[in-house]
Amino acid sequence: MKTIAVLGAGTMGKGIAISFSTGGYKVNLFDNSEAARENAIPAIKSDLDLMAEMEAISSETEEAALGNIEIFDDMIAASVNADFLIEVVPEVLSLKQDIFSELDKVCKPDCVFASNTSSLKLEDMMAKMSDERKQRTMICHFYNPAHLLPIVELSFYGNMPENIFNEVYKMFYDIGKQPVKVKKDVPGLIANRIQNAMAREIYSMMEAGVADPEEIDKAIKFGPCFRYATSGQMEITDMGGIDIWTTVADILWPVLEDRKDAPDILRNKVKEGKFGLKSGEGFYKYDSLEEREKAVRNFHKRLLIQLVASRNYV
Ligand code: NAD
Repeated sequence: MKTIAVLGAGTMGKGIAISFSTGGYKVNLFDNSEAARENAIPAIKSDLDLMAEMEAISSETEEAALGNIEIFDDMIAASVNADFLIEVVPEVLSLKQDIFSELDKVCKPDCVFASNTSSLKLEDMMAKMSDERKQRTMICHFYNPAHLLPIVELSFYGNMPENIFNEVYKMFYDIGKQPVKVKKDVPGLIANRIQNAMAREIYSMMEAGVADPEEIDKAIKFGPCFRYATSGQMEITDMGGIDIWTTVADILWPVLEDRKDAPDILRNKVKEGKFGLKSGEGFYKYDSLEEREKAVRNFHKRLLIQLVASRNYV
């Protein structure tokens, strides 16, 4: 595979374009909004600058990556010569179905189609495609920010022959990602399910007044997630002892939160217009535009420290 079409240059599309372009691929980046097209290269350059500053990439790689990205205002022109394309448009089933169906007719027969969907079913998105293309279509779910998080969850649900899947898996591995093979079409795939299971318990403890937000955040960062950054659940269970984990599960799981909908602590913030960073207040306050930009930059810097360190994990 040589040329990648990225369809949609919003939050995720720009990060995906960075991931492929720093990996040496030619990226055709399409968006139907003129504002999004105009914003794409300056925003990508700013992200690449920080990556170079934090020594996650060299200045030569940054320069090459910028040279690898071409902006398109025509979806078909961006896609006809692609070996792999990924749609990163809003989460609307009919939109994704129509894009896949239109491109199925004009793209190279061996081009692999992918969706970055967070919640839609692969089978539904493929509804209007030819049987041949269905064998070359998959979910490739990046995590935000896509250029800094190594994970990409890849669907392997039975529609795609294993040799094609392996080719895509290798492509992601070779650009520095950590592809995860997902074998069942479960809502949220793997990582979002884990994250939300933790989030449910965290919000529940907040509502019960167990600790202040910054104390709970500290407990996550310097407790379980400090280990999870380098070791998975199965590795940690083996380290601690399966007998211990069994005893603790019997005692603790009956008292853990098990509600089935979003908690009041979130709903009330939404009612008050406190959406977090984008509104200037959530659980924390971000009084000025400068403070918001600083919060995002520091978030990215911390991720870059981890990204560079993760290359040396044993
Ligand atoms: P976004 O709104 O930031 O970007 C979407 C972009 O698509 C916009 O720039 C918009 O102009 C463009 N667009 C709209 N219609 C289009 C069309 N017909 N053709 C081409 N471009 C079009 O959205 P996002 O957050 O980047 O999410 C995109 C996809 O990625 C969604 O499916 C979402 O569920 C998924 N996703 C998002 C996140 C996240 O954290 N934001 C994480 C993982 C997956």
